[in-house]
Amino acid sequence: MPAADSSTASMEQSPSNPESVIYNGSCHCHRFEFNVINPSLTDPSTQVIDCNCSICTRNGHLLVHVPDANFSFSKGSQEELSKYTFGSHKIAHHFCPTCGTSCFAASIDPNFFYGIKAVNVRTFEGVDLKALNLKFMDGKNATIP
Ligand SMILES: [Zn+2]
Repeated sequence: MPAADSSTASMEQSPSNPESVIYNGSCHCHRFEFNVINPSLTDPSTQVIDCNCSICTRNGHLLVHVPDANFSFSKGSQEELSKYTFGSHKIAHHFCPTCGTSCFAASIDPNFFYGIKAVNVRTFEGVDLKALNLKFMDGKNATIP
C-alpha cells in the first residue's frame, strides 16, 4: 500500500497541491474498513462532490475521486461488498451487505474511468462535514455514454 510518508507530508505546499492525508473509512457495522489517501479535505482547494443524480440523492453521497492505488482495505475486500448497477451498468455502487452503507462507486468498464473510485466521504472518521468545500454536480442531467 502506498503511504503518505514524511516525504509527502513535508512536500512544499501550494494551493493547488494540498497535503495528502490518510482517511480511515468504514461501513456502519465495521465489516469493511479502508484507508484512503486524499488531499486534505480541509484544504480550500480540495473539492467534495455533492451530486444530485438518482443514486447520490438517495444515498446522501459526498464523494471524492481516488485512484485505486490510494485506496486499500484494512478489513474486508472489494469482492465481499455487494454491488448495484443501473442505467448503462458501467459503474458499480459498492455497499455493505450487512449494514447497507454505501462505501464507494467504481467503474466496471475498462474503457470508462477504470481504476478510480468515487468514495463516500461520509464513511470517513473525523471529518467535519460542515467544513467541506462542496462542489455541486448536476449528475441528474448528465448522461453517461
Ligand atoms: Zn457494514
